[in-house]
Amino acid sequence: MEDKVLNLSRLKGKIIAIDGPAGSGKSTTAKALAARLGYQYLDTGAMYRALTWFALQREIAPSDGAKLTALASSLAIEFKTESKINHVYINGQEVTDEIRTPEVTQHVSEVAAHKGVRKAMVEKQAELGKDGSIVAEGRDTTTVVFPHADLKVYLDASVAERAQRRLLDLARMGVSTTLEEQEADITRRDSFDSGREHSPLTRAKDAVVVDTTQLTIEDQIERIIELLKTYA
Ligand code: C5P
Repeated sequence: MEDKVLNLSRLKGKIIAIDGPAGSGKSTTAKALAARLGYQYLDTGAMYRALTWFALQREIAPSDGAKLTALASSLAIEFKTESKINHVYINGQEVTDEIRTPEVTQHVSEVAAHKGVRKAMVEKQAELGKDGSIVAEGRDTTTVVFPHADLKVYLDASVAERAQRRLLDLARMGVSTTLEEQEADITRRDSFDSGREHSPLTRAKDAVVVDTTQLTIEDQIERIIELLKTYA
């Protein structure tokens, strides 16, 4: 369908970076936005999750920064988007579902906090985005990975709303959990990701804050499209 209000040729090659805490709607929004613009979608969290899954399989401790750094540099992480699903592969093996398990979620923030791990991942992410036409999302895409992004958005929502969204996502995957458990997990990860020494989750000075607590996914996408027309 032709997009009458959005001048797609003017938007060719841009970089859109979206950061925010767990469950703020980054993945769904970024994926839909990328599809609408014909851009590549980059889920940087999936890369840290893939590394965590791989390390857990090999009984490498989430605290072992040296081994994890070596692993992060040597692993091939790839994405293929098919039928709106972002398939994730590590060294050729599909791990799309495996990286969303509660076990991976429990350990990923510790794995992602190591300086060497971050350096290796940021290099891969910057390489993936070097030609632009990309929507990237995560915790440091607006600050470290793409500091010169054409549009930076910080998505946020209340803890209660984010926990509710996670509960529904997990239920769809057949994982049974409670709202209290999800609130506790989100609060723990928020504090870990915001408090860490290297590349903490923080709002870039030039990022536009969008609070998604009261917004539907369609609203969120429209809001960012409006921002694109203004800023990018
Ligand atoms: O986005 P998602 O919740 O899948 O990310 C999982 C974890 O990966 C985050 O809680 C955070 O610890 C880490 N992460 C990160 N930097 C990014 C993306 C994710 O540290 N750019």
